[in-house]
Amino acid sequence: MDIVFRGGAMEVGRSCIEVRSDNSNILLDCGVKLSENNPEYPILNKIYPDAVFISHAHLDHTGSLPILSHLHLHCPIYSTSMTRALTKELLKDSLKIGMEEHRELPFNKGDINRILHHHKNVEYGKTYFMRDFEYTFFDAGHIPGSASIYLNYANNRKVLYTGDIKLSKTRLTKGADLSFCDNDIDVLIIESTYGDKNHPDRKQLEKEFLNKVKETVERRGTAIIPAFAVDRSQEAILMLSDLNLDNPIYLDGMGIKITEIMLRQHPKYIRNHKKLKRVFLNTYTVESDERHYVMRDLKENGGVVVSTAGMLNGGPVIKYISNFWNDPKSSLIFTGYQVKNTAGRILLETGKFPIGEMVIKPKFEISFYEFSAHAGMDELRTVVKKANPENLIIQHGEEEPINTFKEWAIGEGFNTFVPKLCDKIKI
Ligand SMILES: [Zn+2]
Repeated sequence: MDIVFRGGAMEVGRSCIEVRSDNSNILLDCGVKLSENNPEYPILNKIYPDAVFISHAHLDHTGSLPILSHLHLHCPIYSTSMTRALTKELLKDSLKIGMEEHRELPFNKGDINRILHHHKNVEYGKTYFMRDFEYTFFDAGHIPGSASIYLNYANNRKVLYTGDIKLSKTRLTKGADLSFCDNDIDVLIIESTYGDKNHPDRKQLEKEFLNKVKETVERRGTAIIPAFAVDRSQEAILMLSDLNLDNPIYLDGMGIKITEIMLRQHPKYIRNHKKLKRVFLNTYTVESDERHYVMRDLKENGGVVVSTAGMLNGGPVIKYISNFWNDPKSSLIFTGYQVKNTAGRILLETGKFPIGEMVIKPKFEISFYEFSAHAGMDELRTVVKKANPENLIIQHGEEEPINTFKEWAIGEGFNTFVPKLCDKIKI
C-alpha cells in the first residue's frame, strides 16, 4: 500500500492524501490553502481516484473538490450529510469571493454542482464496503458533521485518518468518538495543529470572554465579536445567552445561513440542538438593508454583535469596525486563531487596521480569546497512545508543533513519519 501526501504535509491547508492499494485508489480530503496572495491547491497530477472521503466541511479540506470535476475526474464523494450541506455553502461562497476579487479560479459553478451531485451519504459508526476495503466514519468532535475515517483493507492494513479532531466537548459539539482505537491500527494519520501547545481551561476562558462582553455593554459600548461562520458563530450566541442581557444580541453575516443549515440537518450532529434552536430564535439576525438601524441602536444603547469574517478578511464585521473604531467604550473581542498575514493578526500585532485606502489605529479595546476546535498537545498524545499504531504519520501542522509532536512520539517508541509535500510512504 502507498500513501501519497498531495497537500497538508508540513503545513495547515490543502489537506489531500491518496491511499493506493492494488485494487483501489482513494483520496482523503481535497482542500485549498488560503493565504494572503494566491490560493494554493494540492498536487493533483497523475491521479485517478475511485472515491473521495471528506472528513469535514472546512475549505482547507474541501476547497479543491471542484478542481477534480474540472479535470474530469468524476467519482463519488463520501461524507456525512452535515458535511455536504456545509460544504455546499462554503464552496459557493468561495466562488463568489473569488469572482468579486477577479481571481482566476481553476473551477466554475458547474464544477461545484457536479461535486455536490456525486455526494454519497455516510452515517457515523456504520461500516460500509467498497472494492478491497471497508470504511467507517467516527465523530471527530471538531465541527458538526466532522469525521475521523477508518479504512480496513482485508484485516491486513488498517488505516485511521483523524481529520481535524477535538476530544473535549464544546457548547456545540460532543467531542470525538475514539472507539476506532479498539481496532489494531496499522497506520494512524494524525493532525498536529496544536502539537506543541495545550489549551487554557475552556470554562475559565468562557467566563473571561463573557465578562469582557458584559463590561463593554455596561459602559454602553458595542462588543464586536468576529466569528467564523461555521462553529464559532453558533458557539458565540450559545455562550452569550448565559448573560441574559437586556440589549439584543445581533448576528450578522454568513453565520446566519450556516446556523439555519445546522438546525435543519439531523439533530444528532449538534450537542444541544434544542438549545441552539431556542437561542437562535432569540438572536436578532441582521439583513444587509437593516444594518443601518442596527448601527444606530448600538450607537445609542450599546450592545453585542457577532459577525463574520472571523479573521477580519472581509464580511460585515468590517462595517462594524468602521463605525465603532473611534469609540473607546466599545471593544473588539476575537474568538479564534488568527492566521499569519490576515487583517486580524496584523491588528492584534500592530494595533493598526486598513480600511479602504486608510490605515486606522482603533480606539476601542481589543482582546483575544482562543476558543480552539482542535485537540491540544496532551489530547493528541492521548489519541496516539490509545490507538497504539504500528506506524504514526504526523501531518496538518506547522513545523514547530510537528517537531515537538514527532520528538515525543519517537521517544515513546512509535515508528513515526513526517511526510513532506508529494512524499510517498510504503506500508
Ligand atoms: Zn477544520
